[in-house]
Amino acid sequence: MRISVVVPCFNEEAGLEELYAALSRVLPPLGGDFEVLLVDDGSTDKTLPLLRTIAERDARFKYLALSRNFGKEAAMLAGLSHATGDYVAIMDADLQHPPELLGRMVEMVGAGYDQVIARRTRKGEATVRKLVSTLYYKMINKVIDVELENGVGDFRVLSRRAVQALLSLGEYNRFSKGLFAWIGFDTAVIDYENVTRSAGNSSWTFRKLLNYGIDGVVSFNSKPLRVAIYLGALVTVLAFAYAVWVLVDAVRNGVDAPGYVTLMCGVLVLGGLQLLFLGVIGEYVGRIYFESKRRPHFLVKESAGAGHIPVTLPL
Ligand code: UDP
Ligand code: MG
Repeated sequence: MRISVVVPCFNEEAGLEELYAALSRVLPPLGGDFEVLLVDDGSTDKTLPLLRTIAERDARFKYLALSRNFGKEAAMLAGLSHATGDYVAIMDADLQHPPELLGRMVEMVGAGYDQVIARRTRKGEATVRKLVSTLYYKMINKVIDVELENGVGDFRVLSRRAVQALLSLGEYNRFSKGLFAWIGFDTAVIDYENVTRSAGNSSWTFRKLLNYGIDGVVSFNSKPLRVAIYLGALVTVLAFAYAVWVLVDAVRNGVDAPGYVTLMCGVLVLGGLQLLFLGVIGEYVGRIYFESKRRPHFLVKESAGAGHIPVTLPL
């Protein structure tokens, strides 16, 4: 049995040694051999030199360096596609995903689960953030076709066939929470208490979170387009009925008031709706545009022990 641990790293210089210590403490007792695949996602600090040192010190630690910052999704994908283990774990570099849990997770995959997810409680998070995320998951699960769970992130251990399934999804816009749910297979969840970052800062800004939220909705179905159709139809019918009423009124009573208010209302409502749904449509068209380019998800500029060819996905 071979375990691979994939760790995306973006500007994580401050916590890497701690991560190395934790993993080299936790992984050997699991039995079988293991590899740790550290993926440098175009860090601008000393992460890459540190990864070189670690890989030199310990052959079980390998690294890949992407040619620039491609984002966590791409970094995870790079790691997954280079992982050789029968079981593949994905975890963050900042020790927010407690390595101590890996033992139990690997055990459960050994017992036949294809995905073992560690779910965090949101304890200690700002109330507003908790509220927003609860609301978001309530809403998104009504709209999209796969079930997403609050607190479920990328910390998980996958069986080989689950990894192959993920790699077979070649889409460019990767909303991995949804992709994990989409592939299905037997899934188990274990809970753990939220941990704060060991070092460095989270790279999530409010804007990034907002965009991530929109990705979640748009990546997994076309229901917003359906909403556009229904709402558009409703407004059209109302506008038409109103137009008939205005006409009839004009014929019977003659034209009197300048009708500024109604005119403005009509123009504004229709204009607003049109812009909104042009945006919705644009979002999908944009995705088609990016998918149609079939660009690789990431480019590797350097690696040690993890294969030296820039890997793209089979499409
Ligand atoms: N990360 C990455 N590329 C990015 C942003 C983040 O590889 O562009 C990595 C980061 O190094 C960490 C993980 O993704 O290992 C989670 O990032 P972070 O801790 O900033 O997010 P949070 O835990 O706040 O969700
Ligand atoms: Mg983090």
